[in-house]
Amino acid sequence: MKIVADLHMHTSVTHHAFSSLTEMVRGAQDAGLAAIAITNHGPTNPDGPHEWHFANMDLIPRQIDGVTVIRGIEFDITAPAGGINVIANKCLRPIEFALASFHECLFPPATKEIHTAALEAILHNPYVNAFGHLGNANFDFDHEYIISKCNDCGKIVEINNASLNIRAGSRQNCADIARLCKKYEVPISVDSDSHIEYRVGHVEGALAMLEEIDFPEELVINSSIDRLNAYFTGRGINLFD
Ligand SMILES: [Zn+2]
Ligand SMILES: [Zn+2]
Repeated sequence: MKIVADLHMHTSVTHHAFSSLTEMVRGAQDAGLAAIAITNHGPTNPDGPHEWHFANMDLIPRQIDGVTVIRGIEFDITAPAGGINVIANKCLRPIEFALASFHECLFPPATKEIHTAALEAILHNPYVNAFGHLGNANFDFDHEYIISKCNDCGKIVEINNASLNIRAGSRQNCADIARLCKKYEVPISVDSDSHIEYRVGHVEGALAMLEEIDFPEELVINSSIDRLNAYFTGRGINLFD
C-alpha cells in the first residue's frame, strides 16, 4: 500500500513548524504525492494562526507545480461538550478538510468517559471530517463505541504516522483503532502530520502497522487518486479540475 495524498501537515504559521506552503509543495513533489492538505491549528491554539489565515485560504491555487492543495484546518477539541476552536463562519468558508484532535494544551487529559463524550459530540459536528491522531495514549476513550458510530455520522479516522513515533503508547492504540475501522468498515486517511517539508508523505510506520493487521486498502481514502476523488467529490469538492 502507498499514499497519493497527505492530508495533515503544518506550515510555519504554526509556530513550531518550519516550512512555507511552497516548501511543503516541494516536499510533496519529492515524495511523489498528487495532493496535500494544509491543516494548521485553529486560532485559539497558542501555536495557531489568526482566523484570517483560514478566511484567505481560497487564495491558494488548486494546483501548485502539479500538486493539488486542499484547504484544511486541524481543530482543537476544546471542551467535553465537543467544543472546537471558535472561528467566524466566513473564515471557515474556504475549508475543505477539517480534522479535530485532542491537544493537551487546550484539553487537559481527563477520564475515559469525558474523552468519549467529547468525541461523541464531535461525531455530530458538521464542520469536522476526520478525527486526528486518535491514538494519543493521554486521551483514552471507548474505541469501539466511537468507531462504530463514525459511518452513521460521516466521519473518517486518521492514522497519524507522527503519533507512532512521538506519542508513547500510541502504537498499540492506533492498531486497536485501525482494527475497529476494519471491523466497522470506517474509511481512514494515513497522514504524516509533518511540521517540515522533509517529512511530507512519510507514513512508513503507519503503513507497516496497517499491513500487519491486513487493513483493506479500499478503506484508505488517500491510497489512490480514485478513492481520494470519490471522497472529495462526494462532498462537492473537485480536486483535479
Ligand atoms: Zn494535532
Ligand atoms: Zn497536526
